[in-house]
Formats: sequence, structure tokens, C-alpha cells
Amino acid sequence: MRDHTGAAAARLSIDPATGRVAGARQCPSPNCDERPPGMPVDLVVVHGISLPPGEFGGPWIEALFTNSLPADNHPYFAEVAGLRVSAHLLVRRDGEVVQFVPLGRRAWHAGASQWQGRPACNDYSIGIELEGTDTLPYEPIQYLRLAELLAAISVAYPGVSQQRIVGHSDVAPGRKTDPGLAFDWPGLRARLTLLRELGP
Ligand SMILES: [Zn+2]
Repeated sequence: MRDHTGAAAARLSIDPATGRVAGARQCPSPNCDERPPGMPVDLVVVHGISLPPGEFGGPWIEALFTNSLPADNHPYFAEVAGLRVSAHLLVRRDGEVVQFVPLGRRAWHAGASQWQGRPACNDYSIGIELEGTDTLPYEPIQYLRLAELLAAISVAYPGVSQQRIVGHSDVAPGRKTDPGLAFDWPGLRARLTLLRELGP
């Protein structure tokens, strides 16, 4: 157990110089820019996404984040194809981790948002998408990969404490509902505690 989780966490370690997550497949998005100078990164925003909604496994999330979603392929695509959005990371249903934006840069995932009185969460947060919907249970492997990512992030960005891992619905209430009621927050926190007890 220790060897397994330790090795997995190491696979997902973060290079502080580049903001790249070792072990993540790189799929660079142009939808990012510099964070404000001196802005500490001290929040993680967890999202849920599927394209089309409720369908999994296709190439469309990556297409959306790289501005190549075919608007005429699905009625929903026509609504979102013009958006310029991204997240730092995506955890797919099978546990694959995809990185779109280096963690040191600002990804465009939260939109109009605030947390504890601070607006513009994109400035100071890392955005992680889980492939899923608000109502269908996320996969156990997704929680494991998310917990491993969060453990690595808390090392690279010590301001990201367990209390500063929130949902998109928490920073944009009334506007966003993801990751939804299906997301098991107690289960995630239990995994994080377990990883911390097991150590690096
Ligand atoms: Zn979201």
C-alpha cells in the first residue's frame, strides 16, 4: 500500500520551475496568461465536465480547451465552442491525467467568482476538472488521482491546505453547480488524510 501510493504520488510530482506535472499527458492550451505579479497560489477549484453532457471518453474536452471544438457536431457544442476556457488539469474517467496549463500560469476555469471575499479566483487558484456530471458518481480511480495531485500541489504550493480545496459551485454559487452532489467530499478528504499519514 505504502509503496503503491508513494510511487503514484511521485509519478504526479510537480516541477516548480516549469509548473509541469510529471506523469500527466501534456495537451497545451492557448487559453491562459500570467497570474498577477506576486500573487500566491493558495486555492484549488474542483470542476466536473463532460462533452457532450453525460457522455464520456471522447476527444471533446481537449478540443474545447484547445479551441478546436466543432460547433456543428452537436447542439451543445454550438453553445460552448466560442468560449475561451481551460483548466490546469483534467482527470478522465479511467484515471488518466491531462495537463493543459502549467500550474504557474493562470488558466481560465472559474469565471466570475470569489472565495472568502477575494474575487477573480483564476488569479490565485489551480483548476482541476474531473470528467463527469453533477449526478453520476465519479470513479474511484478519479478520487485516487485527484488526491495524488492535491498531495503534490500542497507540497509545491503550501498555501493549498485541505480547507482551500473547493468546488466550482462554492466560488460561483447560483451560477455553477459542478462538481455536483455526486462529488464525494468526505471520501476525498479521507483519501487525503490517508496519503498524508503514509507520507511521501
Ligand atoms: Zn466548473
